[in-house]
Formats: sequence, C-alpha cells, structure tokens
Amino acid sequence: MTEAVEISDAGRAATARAGEWLRVLGQLKAEVGEDAYRNWLRPMHLERINDGHAVIAAPTRFLRDWVITHYLDRLLALWQAENDEMTRVSVIVARPQRYAHVGNSAEPDDDESDPSGPSAAAHGPALEIGDERTQLLALDHRFVFENFVVGKPNELAHAAARRVAEACVSPAHTVPFNPLFLYGGVGLGKTHLMHAVAWHVRKHACDRKVIYLSAEKFMYQFIRALRFKSTMDFKEQFRSVDLLMIDDVQFISGKESTQEEFFHTFNALVDANRQIVISADKSPSDLEGMEERMRSRLGWGLVADLHPTTYELRLGILQSKAEQARVAIPLKVMEFLAHRITSNVRELEGALNRIVAHAQLVGRDITLETAQEVLQDLLRSNERRVTIDEIQRKVAEHFNIRLGEMTSDRRARAVARPRQVAMYLAKQLTTRSLPEIGRKFGGRDHTTVMHAVRKIEELKGTDAALTEDVELLRRMLQR
Ligand code: ADP
Ligand code: MG
Repeated sequence: MTEAVEISDAGRAATARAGEWLRVLGQLKAEVGEDAYRNWLRPMHLERINDGHAVIAAPTRFLRDWVITHYLDRLLALWQAENDEMTRVSVIVARPQRYAHVGNSAEPDDDESDPSGPSAAAHGPALEIGDERTQLLALDHRFVFENFVVGKPNELAHAAARRVAEACVSPAHTVPFNPLFLYGGVGLGKTHLMHAVAWHVRKHACDRKVIYLSAEKFMYQFIRALRFKSTMDFKEQFRSVDLLMIDDVQFISGKESTQEEFFHTFNALVDANRQIVISADKSPSDLEGMEERMRSRLGWGLVADLHPTTYELRLGILQSKAEQARVAIPLKVMEFLAHRITSNVRELEGALNRIVAHAQLVGRDITLETAQEVLQDLLRSNERRVTIDEIQRKVAEHFNIRLGEMTSDRRARAVARPRQVAMYLAKQLTTRSLPEIGRKFGGRDHTTVMHAVRKIEELKGTDAALTEDVELLRRMLQR
C-alpha cells in the first residue's frame, strides 16, 4: 500500500510538470503561429526536470540549435510565469525513448491499486499511442461519416462531430467546443461518430495528430506507466496531440488515480487549445463514481446526446446497410425489422446480417417468414423491453387520469387502482426490482409495490372488467 501511495505521488508530480510544459508550449504556439510551431516546437519533448532545470529533447542537432537561438529565452520566461522555481531550460539532442513490448497481455487490469506486476528490469512499458501520425490502428474503416445515417435522434451529435472534424482540418485550426461530449445508450453510434471524425481529419489534414482510444485503454496504459514509473513518458504521448478522443469514459468512473491523471491530461490539453472528444453512456452529471470537478469540467463544452432510435431512423439505416451490402431485401422485411428490433443499431445490423447470411446459405429469397424464423430469439428479447415511464403513461391514458397521479400521494380509489395496475405491469413487464419500481412511483416503499402486485393478482380472479383492462394494457405495451 505504501508503495502504491508513493508511486501515485510521483505520478502526480510528473503529471503536473508535464502539464506545465504543455501550457508553455501552448502559449508559445499562440505567439509564434501554427507553422513555426509545427516546424520547430512540436518535435520537442520534455526529457526531465530537476531542481528547476528543464531538459528538452530535440530529435536533431539542427532543430536543437534553431530552438536555442530562436525560442529558448521566451520558453524560459513563459515557464517561469507558470512556475517560479524554474531557473534554466536546456535543449539536448535525443530521440524520444521507445520501449520494447513487455509481454503481450492487452487486457486492462481490473484492480488499479496494485501496481506490482511483471518486473521491468530491462524493458519499460509498451506505450502504443505515441505514433507521429494519426492513430488508425483501432479505427474501423466502415465508421465514416458517409455511412452514418442521420435522423432526429442523432442529428445534434452528428452535426457537432462534423463541426469538430471540419474545424480541426481548417487552416485556422479552430476548436469549436471543448470538449465535445457525446453520450447515449449502447449501439447508438458514439464510436462510429468518433471514428468518423478521425477518418475525416486523417483524409483532409494528415499532419494533424489524432489519438483515439477507449477509456479502458487509457487506464491500462496509465497503470502500466505507474508500474514502471514512467508517467512522464505516458504524459508525453499526449503532448503533441491536436485531437484527443476518449471513448466510453464511464469505464474510469470509480478509478481514482486514473481519473486524476485523466483530469490533468484533459486540463493541459484544453489549456493548450487542443480539441477533445469524449463519449460515455451517460451525461456528465449522471456519471456516477466520477469526481464532481471532473463531471462539471466534462460539461463545459458541448454535450450532445444520441437518443434511442425512431422507426424512421431504423428503416433508413436498414436501407443504407442493405445497399452497401448489395443485397435486395423486400421493403416489407425491412419495415418488419424496423418495427420489431428496437433496442439499438448494433442489434438491427446483426439481424440484417443474419437474414442475408441465411438467404445466401439456403439459396432462397428473403421473405417475411424466413426473417421471422431466423430471428426468433432476437425478436423475443426485443419484445419485453418496456420502460416504467411508458407503462405509467399508457396506464394513465387508459384510465384517463393525469400522469402526475402515478407519483402522487392521493389515495382515492380512482387514482390508487390505476397506480396499482401500473406497478403490477412494471413488475410483470420489466426486470426492475420492487424497490426500483417503488422509487419510480414517487419514492414508495417496496412493500407498497408488493401489496399492489398481490392486490391486482387477487382482483384478476374476481373483477372481469379490471382483468380486461390489464390484459389490454399488457398487449398494447408489448405490441
Ligand atoms: P456505441 O459506440 O454508441 O455503442 P457504435 O458506434 O459502436 O455504438 O454503433 C453500433 C453499430 O451501429 C455500428 O456498427 C455502427 O456503424 C452502427 N450505427 C449506429 N448508428 C448508426 C447510424 N446512424 N447510421 C449507420 N450506422 C449506425
Ligand atoms: Mg462504442
């Protein structure tokens, strides 16, 4: 435990210093302009800092001499403004350190508080994100803007992603909103949009450095850096990034030291006016296990959510995918799929692929019947996804009471009975627990829900009208 504390302190200090260097560079860039910056300053790396003496590494002697004669005084002055303990900056010739891979485990560790592990006697960690060019290793070639179908539920996120991509390749290299925060449930296109931004930048301005990585990978690399005491190198990986994209940031909630590091990297890059794009499954304010300052900071730029798909969007996506795959699928079949596979786009794609594969395998045309047969299991699992909100709405509508009565304290039979029906249906049609259901009904106790469920079951044996109501509602909700 002592060991872990010690390392994370060292990590913090290194992080803070690397952050200073990034800020100094950012300011210098503003002074000298984009071109000079790219030619002379961007290739520099922070080698080390000891007792107020910073050592900068230049890749060639020529660059070293140029930086010394043209920028050194200014560098020191800016640095001293950041940190008054700085007394000296020198420039040496050295290639940034490159490490051999250690082992080949690519899985993130699940316990970050244990930085012990394979000994790194001869090698350091493998930092895979330091390439000079865009990081394309993990990018899916299908995830481009051209293949993204835009509809009401995703139009804001799409427009924002495009804006960022275009600004990044514009000569002015502006940063429209920082960060761009994309959020939404699984399979709604967050990763697709982020890859699309990376591809766009890659295509139109290949000198821009783009890093795209999952938050898990970020965490994994950070933990390795801690383990091998090379947080400085870790930080350096991000130094010259123009665009940093971190996917699924909810994975670092609850991981304190990774969050801390992420926060520093984030702030340093924002201060240096680099574009950041983040995705998560929830809005910044709903990210549990995330520090308050981090949550609020994540919401500073533009927050764009991807809503669940609509029927029209699903149909549009199916048509586009069928076209890409060059297979003829009857409109009827596509309409059926768009109606029935409502969970997310990934499942919709999966369904389409299955139908196509089946048709090719048996050498027969695709019909509604074969589609239904091939997708039996998928259809079943999509059937039961009813939300409590939906239930409350439908039940209130059916009994002609206000939606607010679902959560109100009124006990009059005219509102209490429908409320009980809704609780009963919530128990039957969703996987929510009794306490969860209680909370949704104005913070009621789980025993109240249990009582409602029993009451309706009881009445179903005796009250024909109510039984009919319940069955009608159930059918409507399951559609
Ligand atoms: P997320 O990252 O939000 O979980 P993905 O970006 O991985 O979702 O999307 C899941 C799948 O659905 C991908 O294959 C993606 O190409 C596809 N997809 C999602 N939204 C769209 C869309 N609007 N148009 C076309 N394909 C989409
Ligand atoms: Mg994703």
